[in-house]
Formats: sequence, C-alpha cells, structure tokens
Amino acid sequence: MTAYPELYMIINGERIYKESRRIHRVVNPATEETLGELPLADAADLDRALETAEKGFKIWRKSTPQERATVLQGAAHLMLERADDIARVATMEEGKPFPEARIEVMMNVGLFNFYAGECYRLYGRTLVRPQGMRSTVTKEPVGPVAAFAPWNFPIGNPGRKLGAPIAAGCSVIMKSAEETPASALAVLQALLDAGLPKEVAQAVFGVPDEVSRHLLASPIIRKLSFTGSTVVGKHLAKLAADDMKRTTMELGGHGPVLVFKDIDLDKVLDTVVPQKFRNAGQVCVSPTRFMIQEEIYDDFVAGYTQRTKALKVGNGLDDGVQMGPMANPRRPDAMEKLISDAVSQGAKLHTGGERIGNQGFYYAPTVLSDIPQASEIMNTEPFGPVALCNSFKSEDDAITEANRLPYGLAAYAWTQDSARQKRLAHDIETGMLGVNTVMIGGADSPFGGVKWSGHGAEDGPEGVEACLVTKVVHEG
Ligand code: NAD
Repeated sequence: MTAYPELYMIINGERIYKESRRIHRVVNPATEETLGELPLADAADLDRALETAEKGFKIWRKSTPQERATVLQGAAHLMLERADDIARVATMEEGKPFPEARIEVMMNVGLFNFYAGECYRLYGRTLVRPQGMRSTVTKEPVGPVAAFAPWNFPIGNPGRKLGAPIAAGCSVIMKSAEETPASALAVLQALLDAGLPKEVAQAVFGVPDEVSRHLLASPIIRKLSFTGSTVVGKHLAKLAADDMKRTTMELGGHGPVLVFKDIDLDKVLDTVVPQKFRNAGQVCVSPTRFMIQEEIYDDFVAGYTQRTKALKVGNGLDDGVQMGPMANPRRPDAMEKLISDAVSQGAKLHTGGERIGNQGFYYAPTVLSDIPQASEIMNTEPFGPVALCNSFKSEDDAITEANRLPYGLAAYAWTQDSARQKRLAHDIETGMLGVNTVMIGGADSPFGGVKWSGHGAEDGPEGVEACLVTKVVHEG
C-alpha cells in the first residue's frame, strides 16, 4: 500500500521542510485523518524562489527544442511508471475514486508528450521586403511564470501549470492548492528526475493571498496563470495588471446542457449521469444546468433520479466506488446552503439533499427539478454533486437560458438535428461545446472559457502560445 509522503517545498532544487515555518494540516477527506503537515512559505522563501526563477529563465530560454522535449517525454515516462502510487496519493488527499485519479495521471502523460512535440513547432515567419530588406517575426518565452493550481485535479492542474511554460522555455514558480500538495510534488519531481534544471521549476505553498501578492508584486514574474474561482481570478488579474503581466485565467462555469426530444434518452442519461458525479461534481466543466425539452422532461428526471440513486458512494480507495467525498469541508457546507435555499424557493428534491455519515466530507448525489431561476444555485457555480433540471419549450428559450449567466466555460447539447447543431454551435456563448458528447478535453485541443470563465487557453498549441511573446526584427 502506498504511504502518504512527507511534505516539503522545492526551491532551487532543495527540499524545504517545515522547521520553524507555519504549517497547513493536510487531511484525508474520506476519513478526516491528518495525512501530513505542509510547510508554508515565508517572505524569505518566496524571495529565494523569485531569485532562482530569474536564474532559471536565463538558463531555459537558451535551451533547444530537443532539450525541452526530452525533459517532457522523460517526465511522461516516469509518471507512467509511477502511475499507481501517484494516483493513490491523489485519492488520499482529494477523495476522488482511484480509477479517476489514474485516468488523471494518464491525461497528464498525454499532455507532456503532446507538449514535447510542440517544442519543435514554435515557428516564426519571414516577411520579404523590396531591395533585399526583410522582417522576421519570432516567438520568445514570456519570462518567469507564477502559476496557481487548485485542488480538484491534483495531478492534472499542476501538469498544465508546469508543462506549458517548460515547453515554451520559461521558468515557473507553482503554488498548487495546500489541500493536495503531494500530487503536485510528484508531477514536479518527475520533471526534475527527467533532467529539468533545478532552477527552472519550483513548488511553494503558503497562505494563498500572501503568496500571490508577494510573487505578483515582483517584476521578475512576467506571467500569471490561475485556475480557480471567478472571484479570486478577478482579484489576481487586478494585481497582475499593476505590472502589466500576461495572464491566463481558467475560472468558474455553470455548464448548461440542452437536451432536445429527438435523442435516445437512455443513451444520453447513461452518458451524462456519471459525468455529472465525476469527482463529486467538483469539475469546472461539469454538466450542471440541465434544460430538457418539455415533451421528455418527466422521463428524463425519472431516469436521472433512478441512475443517481444507484451510484456507489464511499472511500475512493475502495473497489467499485463511483463517487468519493468532497475535497474539503467547505464544499458540503456550500451544498447544504445552496440546496436548502433552492428547496425553500420551491425546487423539487428527487434524491440526495443531505450529508452522508458523520465522518468524511460526503454529500449525497442530488437531483433537483423545477428550480426557480432566482434561487442562488441557478446563478452560482455549485461545484458539487447536484444536477439541476428544468424544462424548456423552444430552442430560443433554451439558448437564452444557456447564455443568461456571465459564465461561458463548457456547454453541452444533445440533438440529432444537424441544422440545429450548427445554430447551437454558433449561438451558445462558451469556450467549449460538446454536441452529443461529454468528451470536451484532450491534450491537443484548447481548454478555456469566455466571459467570467476567464481568458486564454491551456492544452493544445494554444497552451504553449500563451507562454510566448512576439518580437519582430526589421532588417534594412
Ligand atoms: P477559493 O476561491 O478560495 O479557491 C480556489 C483556488 O484558488 C484554490 O486552489 C485556492 O488555493 C486558490 N486561491 C484562493 N485565493 C487565492 C489567492 N489570493 N491567491 C492565489 N490563489 C488563491 O475557493 P475554494 O473553496 O478552494 O473553491 C471554491 C470555488 O472555487 C468553487 O466553488 C469553484 O467555483 C472554484 N474552483 C474552480 C476550479 C476550476 O477548475 N476552475 C477549481 C477549484 C475551485
């Protein structure tokens, strides 16, 4: 059985243990047992990380595509070898079922391999001028990156935050969530073991507001990459703007799902129900606001409820568990508040709507229908195991509801009508749209949102492009 590792920060390649530093107690959300004590950075630690990142950028901006690709491929290979151990640690600290954590490792392996290929594709262009003059457009790494990764994908988020800057030739200081540090350290360790120079990527932890203010106040940092809530994203974007730093913001969503009557209902339910409860709904692209054409509404809600009741909830390390606990005590508290508000305003509760047991941060998979638009859950990202079902009459009504909120991260639509598919693709304000599918990610496709869901994309060529700046040299 995998043991939970001792915790540390990695600054200039050195493991920094707690010594006299403040600590964060890392807790297993399934059992509430303490897993470890995480050291929190003080100002001197952060200054050292900044100094190192400056050196790291000088080294890495001169690296060849082969050197960067070799590190990324090597790290992918090591993560594959270590997949079971990394996934078990992720389940211990985040709660998601072990098979989901293992898929996350595989996705990260795919991303590092894809980014390794992208290292060879950082093209420029030459503009030919009269009389032998020419202009050359080149792409250069933006500089040291401050990257803040949340807890919901404890392996995948750090993988994205580290992979793109490293492929582009940047250095990076990563602060991933204090709830899930060991998974993030395992990703960085794979890169270091694959030969990444120690100055290029570092991991700090701390009091989030202290760390982000300190790093973003420094002119050494040239780019901020953040994944998390819209409210924190707006705050960090303002800090970054003071020094005109580049930003990539992957923020909240409220995934609309439009289901038209011309579909195979059982097939759609078999697809969307597991997707809704993946990682206990703590997924920014989770399908959330189900809008069902009124002719099939009752059957949809009944089928949804039946499948939801059959889910096996428990410790993610146990066999056959389909949904684990929520990652931290804030989430079941938020569920309780949002769901009781909706029910008090007239929403119908079909199943769930309560905590499970008295140990661990469990909340039952929940189905609500007929939810008043004014209730908070229809306007705030629930980020939990709750499906919100309402009916619609016309396509226009459904599109209006899909676009009603200021979010625009992921949206989904089910219909066999190809003309309607085209209209929806055009009219829904979203960064990613799944038409008759919930598979909206992939190493080679951009992942990001519009409106309050942020800007810029991770993954795909766009993920690396976001860590580059453009320079043009005119030669007479
Ligand atoms: P939160 O908003 O306090 O934190 C979200 C993430 O941002 C965490 O990883 C946290 O460590 C980090 N963070 C918070 N303040 C920060 C700061 N000043 N500087 C740098 N990083 C900071 O809330 P939470 O309770 O952890 O999560 C709740 C909400 O966050 C959810 O409801 C969801 O909307 C959002 N969230 C989104 C994602 C996503 O993938 N987009 C992931 C996790 C959380």
